[in-house]
Amino acid sequence: MMFCIECGSNEVKLQIPTGDNRQRHICLACNYIHYVNPRIICGTLPTFNGQVLLCKREIEPRSGFWTLPAGFMENGESLSEAAYRETFEEALATSVDLELYTLCSLPHINQVHIFYRCEILDGKFGAGSETLDAKLFDLADIPWDELAFKTVAQCLEFYQQDIQQGLFPIRSTTIKSPYQTREA
Ligand code: ZN
Repeated sequence: MMFCIECGSNEVKLQIPTGDNRQRHICLACNYIHYVNPRIICGTLPTFNGQVLLCKREIEPRSGFWTLPAGFMENGESLSEAAYRETFEEALATSVDLELYTLCSLPHINQVHIFYRCEILDGKFGAGSETLDAKLFDLADIPWDELAFKTVAQCLEFYQQDIQQGLFPIRSTTIKSPYQTREA
């Protein structure tokens, strides 16, 4: 049973709206169409003196695994504001020089993950809410087997490749599974 979020009626049916090409939940009482679209997760790849800042997650999913600071974009903020906010909330770090870097589509879970590169102001950081530990890693010491998400691993792999030229073009990719496992 699904109720209309607009009028509360339970006369919600799956139908293709006029002029559309896929089924939506439509309220037969007030005609409200319940569109469901992908959600945006935004964060940063923060660096300081050539090291990368990672956060150990305190919450599920993937508690105890390392991640880049990121989270759901909120209404009323820009992408870079979301990246800045998440970096401060999770890593107590102030982002400077944010540059759009990695766009990952995850069609199997209806999400888009977006990472900016940034520097950390004054090298200051710490464990924010939802974080057990925050730590700077040399690129050679990234704990690949203990990364929380495939998108985080992908972003770090791009960074490892791009830093050799010192050029960081925007990278766009599609990822088919959510969790990181290091392939042999
Ligand atoms: Zn309704």
